[in-house]
Amino acid sequence: MSSDIVKILRAQVRRNCQHPFYLKKLKKVGLKPDDIKTLEDFATIPFMTRTEFYEALLRDYSSFMQDSVVRINLSPSPLGLIPILNTKKDIEVMNKANARAFERAGVTKDDVVMITFGYHVFIAGMMFHGAFEEIGAKVIPLGPGSTSQAIEVAEKLKPTVLVANPSFALKLAKEGLEGIRILIAAGEPFSSVRGYKERVRDAYGDVTLIDYYGMAECTPIACECRHETGLHVSTDFCYVEVIDPETGERVGDGERGEIVVTHLNKEVMPLQRYRTGDLGVVDSIECPCGMGLTMPTGIFGRTDEMYKVKGVKIYPSQIPFVLKSFPELTGRFRMEIEKTEKGTDVLRVIVEGRGDAEVIKSRLREALLVTPEVKVVERLDGEGVEDRRY
Ligand SMILES: [Zn+2]
Repeated sequence: MSSDIVKILRAQVRRNCQHPFYLKKLKKVGLKPDDIKTLEDFATIPFMTRTEFYEALLRDYSSFMQDSVVRINLSPSPLGLIPILNTKKDIEVMNKANARAFERAGVTKDDVVMITFGYHVFIAGMMFHGAFEEIGAKVIPLGPGSTSQAIEVAEKLKPTVLVANPSFALKLAKEGLEGIRILIAAGEPFSSVRGYKERVRDAYGDVTLIDYYGMAECTPIACECRHETGLHVSTDFCYVEVIDPETGERVGDGERGEIVVTHLNKEVMPLQRYRTGDLGVVDSIECPCGMGLTMPTGIFGRTDEMYKVKGVKIYPSQIPFVLKSFPELTGRFRMEIEKTEKGTDVLRVIVEGRGDAEVIKSRLREALLVTPEVKVVERLDGEGVEDRRY
């Protein structure tokens, strides 16, 4: 198993090295693709970062472009719209990987699938569409837009599978959408927000709720199956590592860290030890569907901003995920870090709205792994993070 994956990675790295961007990475550590004999060898390849990759794409676009490219999507970024290139084979491989994930979710060729993601500019709509066509389901390319149009179409065509942002899915249920047996939710935090699935299940009744993780440059990365045991990593499509964002070292199974992905079979714009900046956990589980490597919940933060409190890494971006599960909070917060006279770190989270500070505190402790002081105020002046220790 392990040697199979090494073989696949080696072949991909060999292909990648035809492009100077990737070759430079290996040269930096004096590595040749054929030297990759173990996963440890592979892990000596320097990471690529999003900024570095996007800058290279914009600067040397023509060097990434190949004759075999048939689709150019765009993805928003701080540097502007980034071209997302795929060859015909890339699209086939992506569709097949997504199709296998959605089959594990319970989708069959007898399903009628309504997709509410956009089909133009961005990748999502066409990407989902291709996967369901691969399965042989009947797909409605509805696209985003009005709730009333979605309801009207649904009444006529009776979709059984809905592909949507979880918040839009909730809205559609409130407007009377019925008969959905599987919801595939993407584009927003879902299983990482406690209580969210329960709310959606209450709205739809007997429904399988599938959380999906992917990004424009690499999709799928992970997706739930019908047993809802967490998001199974698409190990036939990408190789996922979880690292300590500070040291770059791999963390243990079940430990929080930054998700790093590598394509296994990509012709253009392949990702090779790509730092996503997404904070998550990967663990080995035994699921009845046969999949093992799993993210217990979706992504629950970003690793861009990190503070050490009592020796523990704190990611402020985790806090909104926790606050979202308390409907009486507005979501606005301020995080303060101080040092007592004895030199102990104090973490304080001030949240806006109404709620039981003790309950919020215990949920924050579960997420942050440090016990914060929690203050609930009706109106907060000034959001953000204040580190007063130094
Ligand atoms: Zn499973």
